[in-house]
Amino acid sequence: MPKAEESVLEIDLNALAHNFKTIKSQLTPGVKFMSVIKAYAYGNDSVAIAQKLEELGTDYFAVAYTEEGIRLRKAGITSPILILHSQPVNFPKIIEHCLEPNLYSARTLELFIRIAEKQKQKDYPVHIKFNTGMNRLGFTEVNYYNIPEKIKKTSAIKIVSAFSHLAASENWREREFTLSQIHNFSNLATQLVKDIDYEPLLHICNTSAIFNYPKAGFSMVRSGLGLYGFANDPKLNARLKPVGTLKTVISQIQELEKGDTVGYGRAFKVKGPTRTATVPLGHADGIKRIYGHGKAGFFVNGKYAPIVGKVCMDIIMIDVTQIDCKEGDEVIVFGGPQHATRFAAAGGTIPYELITGISQRVTRKIIN
Ligand SMILES: *Cc1c(COP(=O)(O)O)cnc(C)c1O
Repeated sequence: MPKAEESVLEIDLNALAHNFKTIKSQLTPGVKFMSVIKAYAYGNDSVAIAQKLEELGTDYFAVAYTEEGIRLRKAGITSPILILHSQPVNFPKIIEHCLEPNLYSARTLELFIRIAEKQKQKDYPVHIKFNTGMNRLGFTEVNYYNIPEKIKKTSAIKIVSAFSHLAASENWREREFTLSQIHNFSNLATQLVKDIDYEPLLHICNTSAIFNYPKAGFSMVRSGLGLYGFANDPKLNARLKPVGTLKTVISQIQELEKGDTVGYGRAFKVKGPTRTATVPLGHADGIKRIYGHGKAGFFVNGKYAPIVGKVCMDIIMIDVTQIDCKEGDEVIVFGGPQHATRFAAAGGTIPYELITGISQRVTRKIIN
């Protein structure tokens, strides 16, 4: 592997394949796999990831927004794509690009039917979301009665799946609540199947639930984070391989003495002979200011180098006093010696936020 000469996010497709197979091996045979590739496949590269997942045999894709789905269609992705957070303004585009909307309320259901009928669509695939306790999007028991009534009156749409989302599937202390969500979903799904006279795909599990609630697989699961190598649990993390490694390079080394200061606001005051390395990465790339002042650090030639002073927009300085290194040497931000979970924790956050936050300005490099 050639060393990084600028900031690059390396995306390891072998690791992706390993994760896909590991998660799939958890499923009851016949249960379908929906790969969640919203937010640029969690900050990686949605097109490269989608192409690989199609090759691996994913059954479905999910993204959050319409534009994300259009991007995949334009890149030649042909698998069905669920738009998790579809919005009425985009319904015509959803149909134009053969994407499948999540209809989560009477308003979205009615508006989508109206547009599909106007376009003389027949059995256009749609997904129905139930709110079982997340209280974000979805029909509840109380307003459920809208659905079958509306569906029966039209031939323009067809419910291809019904689903719900768990609020705390990674947290064992919330087990009772999670089980109640699963139970609630099961009841709503049973009612729906009875009312529409056929069984659409049913799904509620995200990555953590696939591992923690194996009996709740229904007929499909939705995995995002796990595909990229994380599962909200150290034991499960050990079974997966992180897909992304964020690397950068030493642009310059500064030899400093007592009394010198480093960076904006003179925030770091040098106490004795110190060497710092300047790297081309900053808060505009997703390495937020919270990581500054030694809260987190990077790895240089296998050794830990804490961030000194403030994180700038485009640049970060690290302390390499104890490290044998030179200008042009590679620096690892996360991946390899530094698990992204640990780096994220140093900034008080979670891998979801860290990896989706790496800006598009950082070069993506596909390996394997
Ligand atoms: C993001 C998302 C997922 C994926 O969750 P992971 O924890 O990353 O597996 C599944 N379902 C919905 C509705 C989501 O928004």
